[in-house]
Amino acid sequence: MRRVVANWPEYGGLVLDKSAKNRPAYESYQNVDEIPFNPDKAVFPIGLLRAVAQARLERTIRRLDESVNIKTHFYPLSAITHCATCVRRAKEQNDPRLRSALGGSDTYGKLRYRHKAGVKCGCHNRSVMCDILDADFARLIKLLTVRPEALDLMTGLAIQMDKLNGEPKNEKDLEQEKEEAIALCRRRIEAAVILLAMA
Ligand SMILES: [Zn+2]
Repeated sequence: MRRVVANWPEYGGLVLDKSAKNRPAYESYQNVDEIPFNPDKAVFPIGLLRAVAQARLERTIRRLDESVNIKTHFYPLSAITHCATCVRRAKEQNDPRLRSALGGSDTYGKLRYRHKAGVKCGCHNRSVMCDILDADFARLIKLLTVRPEALDLMTGLAIQMDKLNGEPKNEKDLEQEKEEAIALCRRRIEAAVILLAMA
């Protein structure tokens, strides 16, 4: 929704250098009456677009400093580990939306990974201490080895993942991106080879 709303210049026929999600509203026109919309290319009424621009301008918040909350913690496995019961239900009902990722929670200094709130999947354990899960994960990582014959497939998957995570680019950027991706993969392969040799 935020991205759609932030797209008001494009809906008014304007072409800007940054994509909507990278444009904070406070960097926009400070006087909405001066926005040079292009009525020929607009897909919404100009009056509505000005109203949207004005509303965003009034609601935008400019961060005053870049300070860090020292009480926050890293939860490296949050959002990438999922509740097993939820995953099983998702498979049974063929509905990937049922998968729920664990989040981090800090209760009086006790750090836990916690089940998504409000989702009742039938599991009894709603949380696990971070130390335990982190240690389990580290143990798994240490057991991992890369089979040389799997390296090509993994490289291919890594390229695909990079593509999925990137934003759509124009033709020229794409070529450059491909070259960068290939260079990155070469470095990964070299690193993997060194790791293998050490193992
Ligand atoms: Zn669950």
